[in-house]
Amino acid sequence: MPDVDASAPAAPTATSTAPSPPDAFPETASGTGGAAAPAAQPVSQPSAAVDAESATTAAEAAASPPEPGPKRIAIVFAHPDDAEFICAGTVARWVAEGHHVTYVLLTNGDKGSSDPSVTPEQLVATRAAEQRAACKILGVRDVVFVGFSDAMLVADLDTRREVVRVIRRLKPDVVVCGDPTIRWVGQDYLNHPDHRAAGEVTLDAIYPAARDRMTFPELLAEGLEPHKVAEVYLSGAKEPDVWIDTTPYLDKKLAALRAHASQLGDWDPEEMVRQWARETAARNPNPPEGAGEYAEAFKYFKLD
Ligand SMILES: [Zn+2]
Repeated sequence: MPDVDASAPAAPTATSTAPSPPDAFPETASGTGGAAAPAAQPVSQPSAAVDAESATTAAEAAASPPEPGPKRIAIVFAHPDDAEFICAGTVARWVAEGHHVTYVLLTNGDKGSSDPSVTPEQLVATRAAEQRAACKILGVRDVVFVGFSDAMLVADLDTRREVVRVIRRLKPDVVVCGDPTIRWVGQDYLNHPDHRAAGEVTLDAIYPAARDRMTFPELLAEGLEPHKVAEVYLSGAKEPDVWIDTTPYLDKKLAALRAHASQLGDWDPEEMVRQWARETAARNPNPPEGAGEYAEAFKYFKLD
């Protein structure tokens, strides 16, 4: 497991001055290479799908190169649209590199409207359709809707059991989820409680519950054997230590985000998304040669 890079930017000093959609994650890490887009992006595996790492992580990665071949990757968030805001450039890149990406959405998004003419049931259907459309744009094959009620997610044992069930069924090599320690950013953003709960319950499910045979024996009785997740990427992390160049995929990210029409209304997220990604790239303490203008950043764990 890599240590936090002391040279990595610590905390969420960046705040977005752009209008914030109701559900947007703040990007808390960022930067700009400013360099022209490279002609060829280095092909990356998820465990190597990082364009800069802490010195410790880089040394470890060099000592034990990742196994070749496509990986199973689960993207676990609270709401339809969360992944599009926070990590869709990375998702698009990993899909393009041949990995099998599945979305896991813990809530159904049934509170995400202030329109009095829309029922929660209608909203659930709309948001599921929007999420599927976004996934189609990104090349994500599967979406699992776990179905908890929006704004009601809690990181308790019942929720943990459901996430463990999904992890044991999908058997992901890599899981991406939110940083549960983000309570606020700057002076204008309180993180949604579902975002915190989703990050917390996902980490708790990965370790140790999904891995341990004797935890949740009822899942074993369903035929769901223990599963060990090898790598975890925390999106929007307070202490990012890996950066992924998403420059060639920014347009795809924007297109996927725009699929969530019920959440965007008349607001065009492009300026804000480009600014986040540019700032994220600029905060990379060790940008690789030829790094592009846009990046997404994560806190990375390689679990033994
Ligand atoms: Zn959200």
